[in-house]
Amino acid sequence: MASTQRAVIAGGGVLGTMHAVAARRRGFEVVHLEREAEARGASVRNFGLVWVSGRKAGRELSLALRARELWAELGARVPGLGFRAAGSLTLATGDAELALLKEAAALPDAERRGFELLDPTAVREVNPALRGEFAGGLLCRADAIVEPRQVLPALRGYLAARGQGTSGYAWLPGREVTEVAPNAVRDHTGAWHRGDLVILCLGAAHTGVAGASLARGGVLGVRRVRLQMMQTAPLAERVTTALADGDSLRYYPAYDLPGRVQLPPQGAAAGRSRAQLLLVQRADGGLTIGDTHEYAEPFAFDVDEDAYEHLRARAEALLGAPIPRVQRRWAGVYSEVDPDVAGRALYHRAEVEPGVVLVTGPGGRGMTCSPAIAEETFR
Ligand SMILES: Cc1cc2nc3c(=O)[nH]c(=O)nc-3n(C[C@H](O)[C@H](O)[C@H](O)COP(=O)(O)OP(=O)(O)OC[C@H]3O[C@@H](n4cnc5c(N)ncnc54)[C@H](O)[C@@H]3O)c2cc1C
Repeated sequence: MASTQRAVIAGGGVLGTMHAVAARRRGFEVVHLEREAEARGASVRNFGLVWVSGRKAGRELSLALRARELWAELGARVPGLGFRAAGSLTLATGDAELALLKEAAALPDAERRGFELLDPTAVREVNPALRGEFAGGLLCRADAIVEPRQVLPALRGYLAARGQGTSGYAWLPGREVTEVAPNAVRDHTGAWHRGDLVILCLGAAHTGVAGASLARGGVLGVRRVRLQMMQTAPLAERVTTALADGDSLRYYPAYDLPGRVQLPPQGAAAGRSRAQLLLVQRADGGLTIGDTHEYAEPFAFDVDEDAYEHLRARAEALLGAPIPRVQRRWAGVYSEVDPDVAGRALYHRAEVEPGVVLVTGPGGRGMTCSPAIAEETFR
């Protein structure tokens, strides 16, 4: 019998962890390194949206739909992920937004996304917490929610349990990878980790060991994006679906349709911070609310209150009620292949040394697509 193959994975975010899942499923023994005591990057700072609705037709939609299947399958095995097939509602506040939602609902792939255009009464039947003002909503049944603060430890628990009795999965936090060689990496303690395959999922750490490859790939344009988020105390009522406002129609490629040019200019506060409202209720009832987009570095080191006021006003206008007290605010940074430069690439994968593969740059679709990206790496 062939001896067991070994994969070394660096980066304990969702991409690294999904690569660990994919590797174990293919029979690899896995050593998983993370520089922090616990992952603290984009994967724990996001909404936990498994977001199919806004994906571009074609390969991006197919990747997201495959990932959605894998999330559902993992969700059934690992309850700690908090996977909920909750769907989403994108709400229109004026005629132009409603017309664009109508166009989206008539797309040839609308059925694959589970799209259905709803009038305000039907919106409230699906999500009774929505007592505010809106002209209609696009239901996307394919969208889902996971709990980002729970996903990584839950998946590691699953991997550790599957590996019982064998040396199947070893989690090594507090190990920063500082050097790369063929089929190996060295951590900051000087220890070498060798594997048949080494996978680097270092998120938005674009310097360090990923630096040389990304600099070479400068043409490919992998950039960093910073977002602001907040979370409230629990709301007493269930918000049955994830929510997005009409500003999201400006950002997601699925809505790059003729009606987009008819959208009125974005309000000043939203325009300055490139805001869109996304709102997800956490398992404990709290509301995760965001987001903004900052592209130019150096990024602000502090958070901007104007953006938060705008997002709060938007959330309250749709819910028709004040949101609970904000308990937490944070910012997060993700790595993204620049859509204007990268063309068709949905993320960046490159062999940086023989047997060492760097995977990053999935952008705002990284939580969604991570299980399918990991599958593609092994394919
Ligand atoms: C605020 C925000 C909201 C978002 N919302 C969503 C959403 O709802 N849905 C969605 O699909 N996507 C969303 N995204 C995008 C998604 O979160 C990211 O694309 C995804 O988490 C990237 O995962 P990652 O594992 O590549 O990166 P990360 O989560 O950043 O993980 C990288 C890890 O590598 C470690 N690391 C770095 N360098 C080293 C080294 N040298 N040695 C060892 N370890 C190292 C880091 O400490 C980190 O833990 C959002 C992102 C942000 C910031």
